[in-house]
Amino acid sequence: MSAYVSPWMDEELAMFREAARKFVASELAPHEERWRKQQRVDREAWRRAGAAGMLLTDIPQQYGGAGGTFAHEVVLVEELVRASAASFGAPVHSIVAHYILNHGTEAQKARWLPAMARGECIAAVAMTEPGAGSDLQGIKTRAVRDGDHYVINGTKTFISNGYNADLVCVVAQTDPTQRVAGFSLIMVETDGLPGYRVGRILEKLGQKGQDTCELFFDDCRVPAANLLGAIEGQGFYQLMQDLPYERTSIAVTAVAAIERALEITTAYAKERTVFGKALLKLQNTRFKLAEAKTVAHVARVFLDSCIQRLIAGELDAVTASMAKWWTTEMQCQVVDECLQLHGGYGYMLEYPICQMYADSRVQKIYGGANEIMKEIIARSL
Ligand SMILES: Cc1cc2nc3c(=O)[nH]c(=O)nc-3n(C[C@H](O)[C@H](O)[C@H](O)COP(=O)(O)OP(=O)(O)OC[C@H]3O[C@@H](n4cnc5c(N)ncnc54)[C@H](O)[C@@H]3O)c2cc1C
Repeated sequence: MSAYVSPWMDEELAMFREAARKFVASELAPHEERWRKQQRVDREAWRRAGAAGMLLTDIPQQYGGAGGTFAHEVVLVEELVRASAASFGAPVHSIVAHYILNHGTEAQKARWLPAMARGECIAAVAMTEPGAGSDLQGIKTRAVRDGDHYVINGTKTFISNGYNADLVCVVAQTDPTQRVAGFSLIMVETDGLPGYRVGRILEKLGQKGQDTCELFFDDCRVPAANLLGAIEGQGFYQLMQDLPYERTSIAVTAVAAIERALEITTAYAKERTVFGKALLKLQNTRFKLAEAKTVAHVARVFLDSCIQRLIAGELDAVTASMAKWWTTEMQCQVVDECLQLHGGYGYMLEYPICQMYADSRVQKIYGGANEIMKEIIARSL
Protein backbone atom coordinates (compact mmCIF):
# COMPACT_ATOMS: atom_id res chain seq x y z
CA MET A 1 0.00 0.00 0.00
CA SER A 2 1.00 3.62 -0.42
CA ALA A 3 3.13 5.08 2.36
CA TYR A 4 0.97 8.20 2.45
CA VAL A 5 -0.07 9.23 5.97
CA SER A 6 -2.71 11.88 6.54
CA PRO A 7 -0.96 15.09 7.61
CA TRP A 8 -3.42 15.61 10.48
CA MET A 9 -2.57 12.25 12.11
CA ASP A 10 -0.40 12.32 15.22
CA GLU A 11 0.49 10.02 18.12
CA GLU A 12 -2.45 11.01 20.27
CA LEU A 13 -4.84 10.31 17.38
CA ALA A 14 -3.14 6.97 16.76
CA MET A 15 -3.90 6.04 20.38
CA PHE A 16 -7.47 7.22 19.99
CA ARG A 17 -7.76 5.11 16.82
CA GLU A 18 -6.62 2.08 18.80
CA ALA A 19 -9.27 2.75 21.48
CA ALA A 20 -11.98 3.41 18.86
CA ARG A 21 -11.08 0.20 17.01
CA LYS A 22 -11.38 -1.82 20.23
CA PHE A 23 -14.65 -0.14 21.18
CA VAL A 24 -16.20 -0.73 17.76
CA ALA A 25 -15.02 -4.36 17.67
CA SER A 26 -16.34 -5.20 21.14
CA GLU A 27 -19.43 -3.01 21.56
CA LEU A 28 -20.83 -2.29 18.09
CA ALA A 29 -19.77 -4.80 15.43
CA PRO A 30 -21.05 -7.91 17.28
CA HIS A 31 -24.57 -6.42 17.40
CA GLU A 32 -24.66 -5.06 13.87
CA GLU A 33 -26.66 -7.92 12.34
CA ARG A 34 -29.28 -7.82 15.09
CA TRP A 35 -29.53 -4.04 14.82
CA ARG A 36 -30.13 -4.31 11.08
CA LYS A 37 -32.97 -6.71 11.76
CA GLN A 38 -34.56 -4.57 14.47
CA GLN A 39 -33.83 -1.39 12.38
CA ARG A 40 -32.20 0.47 15.23
CA VAL A 41 -29.27 0.50 17.60
CA ASP A 42 -29.87 -0.36 21.29
CA ARG A 43 -29.95 2.73 23.48
CA GLU A 44 -27.46 1.02 25.75
CA ALA A 45 -24.83 1.21 22.97
CA TRP A 46 -25.04 5.01 23.14
CA ARG A 47 -24.34 4.98 26.88
CA ARG A 48 -21.39 2.66 26.37
CA ALA A 49 -20.05 4.92 23.63
CA GLY A 50 -20.38 7.88 25.98
CA ALA A 51 -18.57 6.07 28.79
CA ALA A 52 -15.77 5.10 26.40
CA GLY A 53 -15.27 8.72 25.27
CA MET A 54 -16.52 8.05 21.72
CA LEU A 55 -19.21 10.75 21.62
CA LEU A 56 -18.74 14.48 21.03
CA THR A 57 -15.02 13.92 20.63
CA ASP A 58 -14.53 17.41 19.17
CA ILE A 59 -16.65 19.33 21.68
CA PRO A 60 -14.78 21.23 24.44
CA GLN A 61 -14.36 19.47 27.77
CA GLN A 62 -16.18 22.26 29.61
CA TYR A 63 -19.36 21.02 27.90
CA GLY A 64 -18.64 17.34 28.57
CA GLY A 65 -16.97 16.60 25.24
CA ALA A 66 -13.55 15.03 24.79
CA GLY A 67 -11.93 18.32 23.81
CA GLY A 68 -10.42 16.99 20.58
CA THR A 69 -10.69 18.24 17.01
CA PHE A 70 -12.64 17.14 13.94
CA ALA A 71 -9.76 14.69 13.35
CA HIS A 72 -11.10 12.62 16.28
CA GLU A 73 -14.51 12.43 14.61
CA VAL A 74 -12.77 11.39 11.39
CA VAL A 75 -10.92 8.57 13.15
CA LEU A 76 -14.13 7.28 14.75
CA VAL A 77 -16.05 7.31 11.44
CA GLU A 78 -13.16 5.55 9.68
CA GLU A 79 -13.21 2.82 12.32
CA LEU A 80 -17.00 2.43 12.00
CA VAL A 81 -16.66 1.96 8.23
CA ARG A 82 -13.71 -0.39 8.63
CA ALA A 83 -15.76 -2.66 10.91
CA SER A 84 -18.96 -2.49 8.80
CA ALA A 85 -20.69 -0.85 11.77
CA ALA A 86 -22.87 1.46 9.69
CA SER A 87 -25.81 1.53 12.09
CA PHE A 88 -24.41 3.70 14.85
CA GLY A 89 -25.60 7.25 14.15
CA ALA A 90 -22.81 9.18 15.89
CA PRO A 91 -22.14 11.56 12.94
CA VAL A 92 -25.68 13.04 13.06
CA HIS A 93 -25.44 13.31 16.85
CA SER A 94 -22.20 15.27 16.43
CA ILE A 95 -23.74 17.57 13.82
CA VAL A 96 -26.48 18.54 16.29
CA ALA A 97 -23.85 19.07 19.01
CA HIS A 98 -22.12 21.58 16.72
CA TYR A 99 -25.34 23.49 16.11
CA ILE A 100 -25.68 23.81 19.88
CA LEU A 101 -22.00 24.65 20.42
CA ASN A 102 -21.85 27.25 17.65
CA HIS A 103 -25.25 28.88 18.04
CA GLY A 104 -26.70 27.97 21.44
CA THR A 105 -26.77 30.14 24.54
CA GLU A 106 -24.56 29.16 27.49
CA ALA A 107 -27.61 27.73 29.26
CA GLN A 108 -28.49 25.61 26.20
CA LYS A 109 -24.94 24.28 25.89
CA ALA A 110 -24.85 23.36 29.58
CA ARG A 111 -28.27 21.70 29.39
CA TRP A 112 -27.76 19.43 26.39
CA LEU A 113 -24.10 18.89 25.49
CA PRO A 114 -22.94 16.99 28.62
CA ALA A 115 -25.91 14.59 28.43
CA MET A 116 -25.23 14.07 24.72
CA ALA A 117 -21.57 13.33 25.45
CA ARG A 118 -22.61 10.69 27.99
CA GLY A 119 -24.94 9.07 25.44
CA GLU A 120 -27.92 9.69 27.72
CA CYS A 121 -29.45 12.13 25.28
CA ILE A 122 -29.54 11.03 21.63
CA ALA A 123 -29.92 13.81 19.07
CA ALA A 124 -31.46 14.13 15.62
CA VAL A 125 -31.90 16.96 13.15
CA ALA A 126 -35.28 17.36 11.45
CA MET A 127 -35.22 19.49 8.31
CA THR A 128 -36.81 17.32 5.63
CA GLU A 129 -40.59 17.13 5.20
CA PRO A 130 -42.69 15.04 2.84
CA GLY A 131 -43.04 18.10 0.56
CA ALA A 132 -39.67 19.78 1.19
CA GLY A 133 -36.25 18.15 0.89
CA SER A 134 -33.84 19.89 -1.46
CA ASP A 135 -36.02 22.99 -1.43
CA LEU A 136 -35.84 23.74 2.29
CA GLN A 137 -37.66 27.03 1.83
CA GLY A 138 -40.78 24.93 1.25
CA ILE A 139 -40.80 23.77 4.89
CA LYS A 140 -44.32 23.97 6.33
CA THR A 141 -43.74 23.04 9.99
CA ARG A 142 -44.95 25.99 12.03
CA ALA A 143 -43.84 27.15 15.47
CA VAL A 144 -46.16 29.80 16.90
CA ARG A 145 -45.19 31.72 20.01
CA ASP A 146 -47.74 31.42 22.80
CA GLY A 147 -46.55 32.97 26.07
CA ASP A 148 -43.45 31.13 27.26
CA HIS A 149 -43.87 28.38 24.70
CA TYR A 150 -43.81 27.61 21.00
CA VAL A 151 -46.64 25.50 19.67
CA ILE A 152 -45.28 23.28 16.92
CA ASN A 153 -47.31 21.63 14.16
CA GLY A 154 -45.93 19.70 11.23
CA THR A 155 -44.47 16.47 9.85
CA LYS A 156 -40.83 15.60 9.25
CA THR A 157 -39.56 12.60 7.33
CA PHE A 158 -36.39 10.56 6.77
CA ILE A 159 -35.05 11.61 10.18
CA SER A 160 -31.91 9.67 11.20
CA ASN A 161 -31.82 8.63 14.89
CA GLY A 162 -35.55 9.44 14.78
CA TYR A 163 -36.77 6.48 16.83
CA ASN A 164 -34.23 6.88 19.61
CA ALA A 165 -34.06 10.68 19.63
CA ASP A 166 -34.43 12.48 22.97
CA LEU A 167 -33.56 15.83 21.44
CA VAL A 168 -34.66 16.88 17.95
CA CYS A 169 -33.36 20.02 16.31
CA VAL A 170 -36.47 21.03 14.36
CA VAL A 171 -36.39 23.49 11.48
CA ALA A 172 -39.65 25.42 11.74
CA GLN A 173 -41.25 28.50 10.32
CA THR A 174 -41.63 31.15 12.99
CA ASP A 175 -42.58 33.96 10.60
CA PRO A 176 -44.39 32.94 7.40
CA THR A 177 -44.26 36.52 6.08
CA GLN A 178 -40.48 36.18 5.67
CA ARG A 179 -38.60 33.88 3.34
CA VAL A 180 -35.18 32.77 4.58
CA ALA A 181 -35.44 34.95 7.68
CA GLY A 182 -38.69 33.25 8.68
CA PHE A 183 -37.07 30.01 9.90
CA SER A 184 -35.78 29.08 13.34
CA LEU A 185 -34.20 26.02 14.95
CA ILE A 186 -36.13 24.77 17.96
CA MET A 187 -34.69 22.06 20.18
CA VAL A 188 -37.50 19.67 21.03
CA GLU A 189 -37.09 17.46 24.09
CA THR A 190 -39.20 14.46 23.19
CA ASP A 191 -39.56 12.58 26.48
CA GLY A 192 -43.26 12.53 27.42
CA LEU A 193 -44.02 15.49 25.13
CA PRO A 194 -47.78 15.58 24.39
CA GLY A 195 -48.53 15.69 20.66
CA TYR A 196 -45.14 14.28 19.63
CA ARG A 197 -45.27 10.99 17.78
CA VAL A 198 -42.64 8.86 16.09
CA GLY A 199 -43.89 7.04 13.01
CA ARG A 200 -42.74 3.58 11.99
CA ILE A 201 -39.08 3.05 11.24
CA LEU A 202 -38.82 3.34 7.46
CA GLU A 203 -37.71 0.32 5.40
CA LYS A 204 -34.60 1.24 3.43
CA LEU A 205 -32.33 -0.20 0.75
CA GLY A 206 -29.29 -0.01 3.03
CA GLN A 207 -28.16 1.37 6.38
CA LYS A 208 -30.89 -0.81 7.79
CA GLY A 209 -29.77 -0.52 11.40
CA GLN A 210 -30.24 3.27 11.32
CA ASP A 211 -33.58 4.32 12.81
CA THR A 212 -34.82 6.58 10.02
CA CYS A 213 -38.32 7.79 10.88
CA GLU A 214 -41.19 10.10 10.26
CA LEU A 215 -41.86 12.50 13.16
CA PHE A 216 -45.23 14.10 13.84
CA PHE A 217 -45.79 17.31 15.82
CA ASP A 218 -49.37 17.96 16.78
CA ASP A 219 -49.76 21.10 18.94
CA CYS A 220 -46.48 20.29 20.74
CA ARG A 221 -45.78 22.91 23.41
CA VAL A 222 -42.04 23.50 23.68
CA PRO A 223 -40.50 26.06 26.08
CA ALA A 224 -39.49 29.27 24.28
CA ALA A 225 -36.11 28.83 25.98
CA ASN A 226 -35.48 25.98 23.50
CA LEU A 227 -35.20 28.38 20.56
CA LEU A 228 -31.57 27.82 19.52
CA GLY A 229 -29.59 30.99 20.10
CA ALA A 230 -32.68 32.72 21.58
CA ILE A 231 -33.27 34.91 18.51
CA GLU A 232 -35.99 34.06 15.99
CA GLY A 233 -35.32 33.95 12.26
CA GLN A 234 -31.71 32.70 12.52
CA GLY A 235 -32.42 29.07 11.56
CA PHE A 236 -31.22 29.11 7.94
CA TYR A 237 -28.09 31.06 8.74
CA GLN A 238 -27.28 28.66 11.57
CA LEU A 239 -27.77 25.66 9.28
CA MET A 240 -25.71 27.18 6.46
CA GLN A 241 -22.80 27.98 8.73
CA ASP A 242 -22.46 24.36 9.82
CA LEU A 243 -22.99 22.72 6.43
CA PRO A 244 -19.23 22.34 5.70
CA TYR A 245 -18.99 20.20 8.87
CA GLU A 246 -21.87 17.95 7.82
CA ARG A 247 -20.69 17.62 4.23
CA THR A 248 -17.09 16.87 5.15
CA SER A 249 -18.36 14.26 7.58
CA ILE A 250 -20.22 12.52 4.71
CA ALA A 251 -17.07 12.70 2.58
CA VAL A 252 -15.09 11.05 5.39
CA THR A 253 -17.46 8.06 5.26
CA ALA A 254 -17.17 8.00 1.47
CA VAL A 255 -13.38 7.93 1.38
CA ALA A 256 -13.18 5.35 4.17
CA ALA A 257 -15.60 3.17 2.18
CA ILE A 258 -13.53 3.54 -1.02
CA GLU A 259 -10.39 2.48 0.87
CA ARG A 260 -12.13 -0.46 2.47
CA ALA A 261 -13.70 -1.65 -0.79
CA LEU A 262 -10.26 -1.57 -2.40
CA GLU A 263 -8.69 -3.48 0.47
CA ILE A 264 -11.25 -6.28 0.67
CA THR A 265 -11.53 -6.65 -3.09
CA THR A 266 -7.76 -6.84 -3.56
CA ALA A 267 -7.64 -9.59 -0.92
CA TYR A 268 -10.53 -11.40 -2.60
CA ALA A 269 -8.97 -11.14 -6.07
CA LYS A 270 -5.74 -12.64 -4.76
CA GLU A 271 -7.57 -15.66 -3.34
CA ARG A 272 -10.22 -16.32 -5.96
CA THR A 273 -9.15 -18.57 -8.82
CA VAL A 274 -10.65 -18.17 -12.30
CA PHE A 275 -9.48 -20.01 -15.42
CA GLY A 276 -6.74 -21.65 -13.37
CA LYS A 277 -5.19 -18.49 -11.98
CA ALA A 278 -5.81 -15.81 -9.41
CA LEU A 279 -8.53 -13.32 -10.38
CA LEU A 280 -5.95 -10.59 -9.75
CA LYS A 281 -3.81 -11.89 -12.61
CA LEU A 282 -6.42 -10.87 -15.19
CA GLN A 283 -5.61 -7.53 -16.75
CA ASN A 284 -9.19 -6.25 -16.27
CA THR A 285 -9.00 -6.91 -12.53
CA ARG A 286 -5.61 -5.26 -12.20
CA PHE A 287 -6.73 -2.24 -14.21
CA LYS A 288 -10.00 -1.87 -12.27
CA LEU A 289 -8.14 -2.06 -8.95
CA ALA A 290 -5.41 0.26 -10.23
CA GLU A 291 -8.12 2.78 -11.09
CA ALA A 292 -9.75 2.33 -7.69
CA LYS A 293 -6.41 2.79 -5.95
CA THR A 294 -5.83 6.01 -7.86
CA VAL A 295 -9.29 7.31 -6.94
CA ALA A 296 -8.73 6.33 -3.30
CA HIS A 297 -5.49 8.28 -3.17
CA VAL A 298 -6.78 11.40 -4.95
CA ALA A 299 -9.90 11.38 -2.77
CA ARG A 300 -7.83 10.94 0.39
CA VAL A 301 -5.49 13.83 -0.39
CA PHE A 302 -8.39 16.15 -1.25
CA LEU A 303 -10.33 15.07 1.83
CA ASP A 304 -7.29 15.58 4.05
CA SER A 305 -6.97 19.13 2.79
CA CYS A 306 -10.68 19.69 3.64
CA ILE A 307 -10.19 18.17 7.10
CA GLN A 308 -7.23 20.44 7.79
CA ARG A 309 -9.09 23.50 6.58
CA LEU A 310 -12.17 22.57 8.62
CA ILE A 311 -10.06 22.20 11.77
CA ALA A 312 -8.51 25.60 11.03
CA GLY A 313 -12.01 27.10 10.57
CA GLU A 314 -11.25 27.90 6.93
CA LEU A 315 -13.32 25.41 4.94
CA ASP A 316 -15.78 27.20 2.65
CA ALA A 317 -19.17 25.88 1.53
CA VAL A 318 -18.08 25.48 -2.10
CA THR A 319 -15.09 23.25 -1.33
CA ALA A 320 -17.14 21.20 1.16
CA SER A 321 -19.79 20.71 -1.56
CA MET A 322 -17.08 19.52 -3.97
CA ALA A 323 -15.89 17.01 -1.38
CA LYS A 324 -19.42 15.78 -0.69
CA TRP A 325 -20.54 15.20 -4.28
CA TRP A 326 -17.29 13.92 -5.72
CA THR A 327 -16.29 11.48 -2.98
CA THR A 328 -19.80 10.01 -2.73
CA GLU A 329 -20.00 9.64 -6.51
CA MET A 330 -16.62 7.86 -6.44
CA GLN A 331 -17.73 5.75 -3.48
CA CYS A 332 -20.73 4.41 -5.40
CA GLN A 333 -18.63 3.84 -8.53
CA VAL A 334 -15.75 2.07 -6.79
CA VAL A 335 -18.00 -0.07 -4.59
CA ASP A 336 -20.03 -1.11 -7.65
CA GLU A 337 -16.91 -2.14 -9.57
CA CYS A 338 -15.51 -3.95 -6.54
CA LEU A 339 -18.80 -5.83 -6.17
CA GLN A 340 -18.55 -6.84 -9.85
CA LEU A 341 -15.12 -8.36 -9.19
CA HIS A 342 -16.67 -10.53 -6.47
CA GLY A 343 -19.05 -12.11 -9.03
CA GLY A 344 -22.11 -13.80 -7.49
CA TYR A 345 -20.53 -13.68 -4.04
CA GLY A 346 -20.67 -9.90 -4.27
CA TYR A 347 -24.44 -10.16 -4.32
CA MET A 348 -24.50 -12.20 -1.11
CA LEU A 349 -24.99 -10.28 2.11
CA GLU A 350 -22.42 -12.40 3.93
CA TYR A 351 -19.75 -10.66 1.86
CA PRO A 352 -19.09 -7.14 3.21
CA ILE A 353 -18.95 -5.61 -0.27
CA CYS A 354 -22.66 -6.44 -0.70
CA GLN A 355 -23.62 -4.53 2.44
CA MET A 356 -21.35 -1.66 1.40
CA TYR A 357 -23.12 -1.45 -1.96
CA ALA A 358 -26.52 -1.09 -0.29
CA ASP A 359 -25.22 1.35 2.33
CA SER A 360 -23.43 3.58 -0.19
CA ARG A 361 -26.29 4.64 -2.40
CA VAL A 362 -27.88 7.15 -0.06
CA GLN A 363 -24.64 9.07 0.28
CA LYS A 364 -25.40 10.79 -3.06
CA ILE A 365 -28.84 11.84 -1.76
CA TYR A 366 -28.72 12.98 1.86
CA GLY A 367 -26.82 15.92 3.31
CA GLY A 368 -28.00 17.80 0.22
CA ALA A 369 -28.45 15.82 -3.03
CA ASN A 370 -25.34 15.87 -5.23
CA GLU A 371 -27.17 18.03 -7.78
CA ILE A 372 -27.59 20.67 -5.07
CA MET A 373 -23.84 20.45 -4.36
CA LYS A 374 -23.16 21.22 -8.03
CA GLU A 375 -25.58 24.16 -7.91
CA ILE A 376 -23.63 25.59 -4.97
CA ILE A 377 -20.33 25.11 -6.78
CA ALA A 378 -21.74 26.52 -10.03
CA ARG A 379 -22.80 29.71 -8.27
CA SER A 380 -19.12 30.39 -7.56
CA LEU A 381 -18.12 30.19 -11.23
C1 LIG B 1 -31.42 7.39 4.83
C2 LIG B 1 -31.74 8.85 4.87
C3 LIG B 1 -31.42 9.60 6.01
C4 LIG B 1 -31.76 10.95 6.08
N1 LIG B 1 -31.53 11.64 7.24
C5 LIG B 1 -32.04 12.89 7.37
C6 LIG B 1 -31.98 13.57 8.63
O1 LIG B 1 -31.44 13.05 9.62
N2 LIG B 1 -32.55 14.80 8.72
C7 LIG B 1 -33.16 15.40 7.65
O2 LIG B 1 -33.64 16.52 7.82
N3 LIG B 1 -33.21 14.79 6.46
C8 LIG B 1 -32.68 13.56 6.30
N4 LIG B 1 -32.76 12.92 5.08
C9 LIG B 1 -33.39 13.59 3.96
C10 LIG B 1 -32.45 13.99 2.85
O3 LIG B 1 -31.63 15.05 3.27
C11 LIG B 1 -33.31 14.34 1.62
O4 LIG B 1 -33.83 13.10 1.15
C12 LIG B 1 -32.54 15.05 0.54
O5 LIG B 1 -32.20 16.35 0.94
C13 LIG B 1 -33.34 15.15 -0.77
O6 LIG B 1 -34.63 15.64 -0.53
P1 LIG B 1 -35.90 14.84 -1.11
O7 LIG B 1 -35.78 13.42 -0.72
O8 LIG B 1 -37.13 15.56 -0.74
O9 LIG B 1 -35.71 14.89 -2.68
P2 LIG B 1 -36.21 16.08 -3.66
O10 LIG B 1 -35.90 17.40 -3.08
O11 LIG B 1 -37.59 15.79 -4.08
O12 LIG B 1 -35.24 15.85 -4.90
C14 LIG B 1 -35.33 14.67 -5.71
C15 LIG B 1 -34.19 14.67 -6.69
O13 LIG B 1 -34.36 15.78 -7.57
C16 LIG B 1 -33.11 16.27 -7.97
N5 LIG B 1 -33.03 17.72 -7.62
C17 LIG B 1 -33.58 18.35 -6.57
N6 LIG B 1 -33.31 19.67 -6.60
C18 LIG B 1 -32.56 19.86 -7.71
C19 LIG B 1 -31.94 21.01 -8.28
N7 LIG B 1 -32.05 22.23 -7.73
N8 LIG B 1 -31.26 20.85 -9.43
C20 LIG B 1 -31.13 19.64 -10.00
N9 LIG B 1 -31.68 18.53 -9.50
C21 LIG B 1 -32.37 18.63 -8.37
C22 LIG B 1 -32.06 15.46 -7.23
O14 LIG B 1 -31.60 14.41 -8.05
C23 LIG B 1 -32.81 14.89 -6.05
O15 LIG B 1 -32.24 13.68 -5.55
C24 LIG B 1 -32.38 11.58 4.98
C25 LIG B 1 -32.66 10.84 3.82
C26 LIG B 1 -32.36 9.50 3.77
C27 LIG B 1 -32.73 8.73 2.52
